[in-house]
Amino acid sequence: MDRRSFLLGSAAIAVLAGLVLSRRLNISAPALAEDFEVTKTDAQWRAILSPAAFAVLRQEDTEPPGSSPLLNEHRTGNFHCAGCDLAVYASATKFDSHTGWPSFWEALPNAVGTKVDSSLLMTRTEVHCRRCGGHLGHVFDDGPPPTGKRHCINGVALTFRPVAA
Ligand SMILES: [Zn+2]
Repeated sequence: MDRRSFLLGSAAIAVLAGLVLSRRLNISAPALAEDFEVTKTDAQWRAILSPAAFAVLRQEDTEPPGSSPLLNEHRTGNFHCAGCDLAVYASATKFDSHTGWPSFWEALPNAVGTKVDSSLLMTRTEVHCRRCGGHLGHVFDDGPPPTGKRHCINGVALTFRPVAA
C-alpha cells in the first residue's frame, strides 16, 4: 500500500466513522434539541434542589415506592414542578394507583411534555415539565376513566399548593 492509498483509506474510515457517529447522535437528538424556557447548569440546579429531587428531575432517577408524603395528600390544590414551580397536576385528577407513587389520570393543560424512554429494556413514555424539562415520571395506558392514562409521578419532583378554602 503506498502512502496515497493509505491516506485515502484513512479518509474513508474517518467518513464512515463520522456517519455512524452522526446517526447515533440523531437518535438522541429530539430530546436534546428540545428547548425549555427555564434552563440552568447542573451546579445551579444542585444549589436549589435536594439531592433526591436533583437525582429525579435532572438525572431521571426514580424515588423508592411508598416514600412520598404526597401519597397521602388529599386536599384540593395543584401539584407544581419542584424545579421551576409550574403547576403540572391538579388534585382533581389524582387517584390511588396502589403503586407507591403519586398518580394522576391527566396533566394540566400545556404543563408537560413526553418522550420515548427505552431504558431498562422497556419502551415507556417519559413525562417531564414543559417549562424546565425536569423529569417527573412515566405515563402508562392502564389508568382509570376518563383518560385511561396513569401518570406515575415521583413525589419528590412535585410540591403541593393547597387552594385556600
Ligand atoms: Zn419545571
